[in-house]
Amino acid sequence: MNKRNFIKKTSLGLTMLAATNSVAAEEAKKPNVVWIFSDDHAVQAIGAYGGRFEQENLTPNIDSLAKDGMLFTRAYVANSICAPSRATLLTGKHSHLNGKYDNRDSFNHDQQQFQKILQDSDCQTAMIGKIHLAGNMQGFDYWEVLPGQGRYTDPVFVTEGGRTQYVGHSTDIVTDRALNWLENDMDESKSFMLMVHYKAPHRHWVPAERFKKTFSTRTFPEPESLFDDYKGRGTAARLQDMSIRDTMRMDRDLKQTQPERAAYLKQHNPQGDDLVRWKYQTYMKDYLACIAGVDENVGRILKYLKDAGLDRNTVVMYSSDQGFYLGEHGWFDKRFMYEESFRTPLLARWPGVIKPGSRNNDLVQNIDFAETFLDIVGTPIPDDMQGKSLVPLMKGETPKDWRTSLYYHYYEYPAVHSVRKHEGVATKRYKLIRFYGEDVPNAEEWELYDLKTDPNEMKSLHDDPVQKERIEEMKKELQRLREFYEVPKEQS
Ligand code: CA
Repeated sequence: MNKRNFIKKTSLGLTMLAATNSVAAEEAKKPNVVWIFSDDHAVQAIGAYGGRFEQENLTPNIDSLAKDGMLFTRAYVANSICAPSRATLLTGKHSHLNGKYDNRDSFNHDQQQFQKILQDSDCQTAMIGKIHLAGNMQGFDYWEVLPGQGRYTDPVFVTEGGRTQYVGHSTDIVTDRALNWLENDMDESKSFMLMVHYKAPHRHWVPAERFKKTFSTRTFPEPESLFDDYKGRGTAARLQDMSIRDTMRMDRDLKQTQPERAAYLKQHNPQGDDLVRWKYQTYMKDYLACIAGVDENVGRILKYLKDAGLDRNTVVMYSSDQGFYLGEHGWFDKRFMYEESFRTPLLARWPGVIKPGSRNNDLVQNIDFAETFLDIVGTPIPDDMQGKSLVPLMKGETPKDWRTSLYYHYYEYPAVHSVRKHEGVATKRYKLIRFYGEDVPNAEEWELYDLKTDPNEMKSLHDDPVQKERIEEMKKELQRLREFYEVPKEQS
């Protein structure tokens, strides 16, 4: 109880100091955090992660966070889908403990969330953009969010006071609103946690007008598995409904009536594999144009922080709610525990703490984010949060007992895209997945991958007798993780 009084007195002291020397006062405070979060941004579409779009120089501003800070090469999610990922972000818990299993469940806002704890520690909290959790936000001094998925063009925002519509592209407006908060509402005597959440590059991939032609004449490299026949895997990979070939729509997804596209289709009338190729190229033009918009806006935020003298004492982090398929396995969307959607980007800049240009290769997961925010601001982490603070990793000091395996669980089935329920365990090299429940033959189907020999996860080794012992070990580890994370028996 004395802690609050002490902090209040300290803040008051800082207010006086701020009046005379704002830069020194800023640096004497606990660090601020600017958390920039996009939706469906695959690591394949970030220059700093390398890959087949590297030469496009897609993301110079996001890449600058890797240059000036740390790139996490092995960051993963616990459940690869939009709203559950956000629930994990706020609670530091797997879906089975925060209650948000899929996009359709309601979210219990009354539960413990990191921002409520920060608020109690006299840190200002603000959330701007896509949160995808219906109902009033709690624990934010200010919140202004897109309802549901939100709109790309002229988006409506919801606050405690009602709804407001803004004219423009959602990525630009989310940034405008975030900078407006920093400029007009942020209390300089306190540290702050500002969450800037973009809708982009979520389906249907609508870029701002100024980016619509950016990639119009480009031909992008295809992923090796664009024409995957799914022979090396089980039922789930074969029977999904998220393929570029069969699921991606010519109208809303590919905007076939745009004059250039309509003219091409009329002249060439592509069919079969040729049509898949055209769809992939068109999808990438729009998706990457959305990324260009996100990156430009990240640049606006970084410039604002610098111009306002806030850059030295502000941790800037960039991530996405999950990864995404950019044609790998012939797919778009996410959900599967295969690498492209299981992974998520994570970059962090923290002047004076994170060594510029550093890389971390430890297994980290979105259950760690809430704990990390609390630790950065110096607030105790509740025991019932399930992840670990990444602050030691940021300092280049990975604890000896850092995790060597990850638990994953996807629940939304039957549902759009028809990805069967599955859970699994992944180490740095191996991944064991168990698909289960409705529409899975014999109620469960297992897959095992060796990422070293098969990084594209094209052939499950589960039926290979040589792997018998490894499978037993991995099953034991899966069971250990289920117990460690308190997964209820009826949910697997
Ligand atoms: Ca998403």
